[in-house]
Order: sequence, then C-alpha cells, then structure tokens
Amino acid sequence: MLRFYAFGRPGGPSTGSRTAVTLAVCAVCAACSGSRVGGPAAPGAVGDAGAMVGEGFGFDGGGDDATAAATPLGEEEPTVADKDEIDDGVETESDARGQILRHPLDNWTKEQIEAALAKDPESLGSMSIGYAHSGALVNGVQMPPGDAWELVNADRAWGTRETVDNLTHCLQRVALLYPGAAKMFIGHLSSRRGGHLSPHKSHQCGRDVDVSYYYLPGYEKWYAMAHAANLDRERTWAFVRTLVIDTDVELILMDRSVQRLVRQFALAKGEDREWVDLLFDGAAGVPPLIRHAKGHATHLHVRFYNPLAQETGRRAYEILIKRRVLQPPSYFVRYKVKPGDTLSELALKYHVPAKVIQQTNGMKTDVLKIDREYRIPQSGGVRMAPRVTVPSRRLPPEPAPPAVPNAAPSAIPNAERRGATPPAALGGG
Ligand SMILES: [Zn+2]
Repeated sequence: MLRFYAFGRPGGPSTGSRTAVTLAVCAVCAACSGSRVGGPAAPGAVGDAGAMVGEGFGFDGGGDDATAAATPLGEEEPTVADKDEIDDGVETESDARGQILRHPLDNWTKEQIEAALAKDPESLGSMSIGYAHSGALVNGVQMPPGDAWELVNADRAWGTRETVDNLTHCLQRVALLYPGAAKMFIGHLSSRRGGHLSPHKSHQCGRDVDVSYYYLPGYEKWYAMAHAANLDRERTWAFVRTLVIDTDVELILMDRSVQRLVRQFALAKGEDREWVDLLFDGAAGVPPLIRHAKGHATHLHVRFYNPLAQETGRRAYEILIKRRVLQPPSYFVRYKVKPGDTLSELALKYHVPAKVIQQTNGMKTDVLKIDREYRIPQSGGVRMAPRVTVPSRRLPPEPAPPAVPNAAPSAIPNAERRGATPPAALGGG
C-alpha cells in the first residue's frame, strides 16, 4: 500500500494531513554509509543559491549541551557520555519491509525541479539531505514555542516541516491527555542549514530531536538525570506511545535505566506485553525501536522518518550541488597563489598531501607560481542517500473486534496502516 504526502511551504501550515492511500508496495534495500561533513567550504560566489539559503550553506556548529551529569539515584547506573560528544550517531538499516511512499515530485522531471528551485525554492518545502550523521537541511522550519514546552536554544531548533509537525503533535497530545504537567524542554534539533552540530554525531539533516524527559513537579530542569524519584513515568510513556503510534518514528534513544522505569510503567498500566517487548527488544530481524545509547539518561533522542523531505532532498540533490547550496562528497577549491606562499603551507591549510596538489595541478616541482590558480581536492561534503523506505508502524493490538462485520474504517490515519501490515507481521523476520 502506498501513501501520498502533500507539499507544504516551510513556513506554512502543517502538512501533517495524509491523504489518499493508493497503489502498490515497493521496497528497496540499501546499505547506509556516509562521510562526516567538515573542511573548508569552497570559495567563490554562492550565486543564485544565495536566494535559497541566505548567505550560503553553512556547517555551523552548535553550543555544548552535553555537560551536566548529576549523580544518578536510580537502581541501575545510567551511562554518561563523554563530555564533548553524544553517542547519537547510530544509523538504522534500510528496512526491506518498508514502503516507498508516493511523493509529489514523482512525476516531475529534473528540469521542472530545477525551474522550481530557481523561481521559488521554498515552494518545494523542507529538504532533508544525506544522512543523520552526515547531512544537510534546506528550507528548514524552526520549532515554535509552546505552552507545554520550552526551547533550550531556538537557533539549534530547526527541522523539517515533518519533524516539527510530528514533535508538536506528540507534545500537544500529552498536554491534552495529562494537563498540568511540569514544563518540558526541547533541546537541539538541527542548525538552520543542518550539518555538524556539536556535540552530536547526528542531528545533521533535520530529522533528529532531543527532548527532556517529563519530570515530576519541582524536578523540571533541562539535562536533569532521570531516575525513579523524579521521572514522570506516565507522561514520558504517553509521549513515547504517541510517537510510536502517531508518527513514523525511526528510533528513540533512551538510557537503559530510564527504559526500565518506563517499560515497567507501561506494563503495570496494562499495555500488551508482546507489543511493549517489540518496542524495547525488537523481534527476529526487527531491531528495537527504543534503544540504549550513551548520554541519554538526561534526555531522549527521537529520529523521525521524513518521507516527504528526504525524497525532496534526494530529487533536488544534484541541482543543489550545481547551485552550490550543497557541498558534494568530493570537490575542488581554487587557490590563487600570493607572494610568499609555499606548497607545504597550502597542504597544511587544506589538509591535503603536497603530492596530491602537485599531481592535481601537473606540477613537476614544488614551486608555486604567483598569481596562478591551483585546484585543491577536498572531501567531506554531503552524499546523496537512497530513497527512503518507511516501515509499517508498530501498533498495539487491535481492541475488541467490531460488532458490525465490515464496518467502515475509522477516520484515524493509523487505521490505514493497521490494514497495510498487521503488527504481527513485523515479527516474521
Ligand atoms: Zn540527540
């Protein structure tokens, strides 16, 4: 079964409404890898691309939010990440059971996409490019303020339209179900144009989000170590449950010690054990959705699938490279030699062996000619990711069967998915 997503302008209203369910299932499988971004940006004019992303494409780093590490009081020792990096770079394998969703650009030619990018770049909506640990964000959307949450750093709270809508939906849902909660906090999403964001390995393409746990009143604080005495298990579980049921969540990173508390709560509340096990343990051939990673006792990390923004990014990738909005995986910078420059200085400056510069420029000696432009190879831009496949949601078992046979399906979007792949099929390997 194939779902279809509609476009939305990055600043416009939500595109969360999913419409027609049509056509057939198709799946691709691709190994996931990528390089880390970094290195000097290509000099020269940004050209037309400037219209799209302002002053050009930036791999700007973020603030360090990974410093606090209070003494844990839980029974199980939470793991604490190194102070300068959070272990959130895990990439999930492409899921062969996933679906390729219909996309607004499916029938567009490259020329049409190029024309749209030239005329009105924002008309194509958000683009998530590359990988979570090596990627970029174009036409990002800033997470809005809300009554139920507080932004820790608005400059680092940029995501795709889908990510921001999904997150907002889940936060509002918890606030609706359990009013009067202590305020919770939104940490980093991505920087405005994606790319490396310190201290994270991921958070590069607008699909990753750090949020605080829900704490009991009086304990609410960004980056507080969650434990048995301060964790609001009910709201934290409600948040996780909503993520799983109402959004295409790719993974949730949560410290083992916190997982245990939340899981116990879910079971005590009467959730289906097999379903809860599927979320926390996975099944044969199905990895857990909720995973342990170092550094996640103080916050949880959510990564969403963005079938709309990821495919738009993939379709626009080559054009964005051409327009210098994106840096390709390998590229050349041009350097005009000034009096006093030496080859070894140039090699040091651009982190390239002198020999490589010599070979690239057909140099027989190590003498540079003043005023001549030399080409210097660089690597570290963004690689294009394959088309995303979105696995069926892991939904709790159906409630009691309908009293009326062949009753009309519910209007809840998830009803479509229940029909698409029963949760039991996920365990089939
Ligand atoms: Zn994170």
